[in-house]
Amino acid sequence: MRLPNRWVSQLGFLTGWLVAALLLGLWFGAIAWWLVGALALYLAHTLRNVYLLDRALEGSGRVPLFETRGLWAEMLARIDKIRTKARSRKKKYHRLLREVWDSTGALSEAGIILNPEHEILWFNPSATRLLGLDPSRDIGNRIDNLLRHPDFVRYLSDPQGEGITIPSPQTPSGWLSIQLIPYGQAQQLAIIRDVTRQMKLETMRRDFVANASHELRSPLTVIGGYLDSLADDEDVPESWAAPIAEMQRQADRMTRILRDLIELTRIESAEEKARHDFVDMPRMLEQICAQYAPADVPRPRVTLHLETDAALLGSESELHSICHNLVHNAVRFTPPSGSVDVFWRTTDQGAELAVSDTGIGIPKDQISRVTERFYRVDPGRSRATGGTGLGLAIVKHALQRHGGTLQIDSEEGRGSTFTCVFPRSRISRRGGAAQAAG
Ligand code: ADP
Repeated sequence: MRLPNRWVSQLGFLTGWLVAALLLGLWFGAIAWWLVGALALYLAHTLRNVYLLDRALEGSGRVPLFETRGLWAEMLARIDKIRTKARSRKKKYHRLLREVWDSTGALSEAGIILNPEHEILWFNPSATRLLGLDPSRDIGNRIDNLLRHPDFVRYLSDPQGEGITIPSPQTPSGWLSIQLIPYGQAQQLAIIRDVTRQMKLETMRRDFVANASHELRSPLTVIGGYLDSLADDEDVPESWAAPIAEMQRQADRMTRILRDLIELTRIESAEEKARHDFVDMPRMLEQICAQYAPADVPRPRVTLHLETDAALLGSESELHSICHNLVHNAVRFTPPSGSVDVFWRTTDQGAELAVSDTGIGIPKDQISRVTERFYRVDPGRSRATGGTGLGLAIVKHALQRHGGTLQIDSEEGRGSTFTCVFPRSRISRRGGAAQAAG
């Protein structure tokens, strides 16, 4: 290993210094004393430099160059360089931090950083505006002590999905959407937005659709009534029979669309969670499937497989809508030679309703869209079979209100399986209480 130059010169100096002491000792006698004296002087010089360096490092200013050449001078210059670099880095971080602070302050969304214990580590000024947080009081507090809404507490313990919307604790009739984003080592960033305007618009949209549907229903009933009378009237010329029948079909279609629209807006605007009535699912499924028992009309065979007698806690009419829409769709989109199988079973996740058919299936790229309102893969076929384009939207919303999820597996030309998974907390044994969740 090669010694750096500064060390070579330092060792050279020490050797020269000792040789000089040796020569002086030889000349004047008492060599040992000369050598000890020389070493003591060298040590004193070194200690002085260490002392000066130590004092200089205590302050925050530059390290003074108390030697101009040799090992010490180089060492001091290097220490000074490192300190200058650290100082400029610190300044840069300060600037960056200020910029982050200013930009997060300008954001309309509130951002809160939480540690794994859900304690608040940091928040931006918007969090003060939206949630009334106070930096001097709330840093270090658990967020669920400040935001106590049960939906938020539940979401905090299991942050799945796209986030939640809860009433604002600050503004009456205000709404906040909260999303938790995990990062780092089990830390979380809570992004909170004021969604009062969107919620108001959404309510207006729902009210408008509900009102328009209700207003249209009465005139349509009258038109339908007159059409029925005309169809039965023997005085009406024969040539009018076909147009009247077509008008009846269209009036029926409009009635069905209005019925589904009213049902959908009712489910959408009902309280967030569905009721907890005892609903005997096996019986309900038996009744629905019985409607498709072999008949004169050619249609696929419907088989019910009851693998459990579990009932559900929920809204009877909404659960009926879910089952009816899925079975009805399966029958409509399956040729008469095909088959439809309906399964009711319990699994580790909860209870499962699966409706499987050997029908026309859905193209892969459209599976995610079929639950949108009025989305139809083949509008002509949907209309021809009495569809309104709202069935699956109703299924999706009704399921959400029961804490359930809809899974669609389908292959074009081979068939589809629609699986509704209900949480365990909604399962009820016959006449018994809800099965323990967990
Ligand atoms: P529609 O009244 O048109 O059936 P839905 O909302 O119930 O409205 O369904 C939307 C679309 O999803 C349907 O038009 C159809 O294209 C597709 N679809 C639904 N169920 C099935 C099924 N079992 N097999 C094939 N396609 C289906």
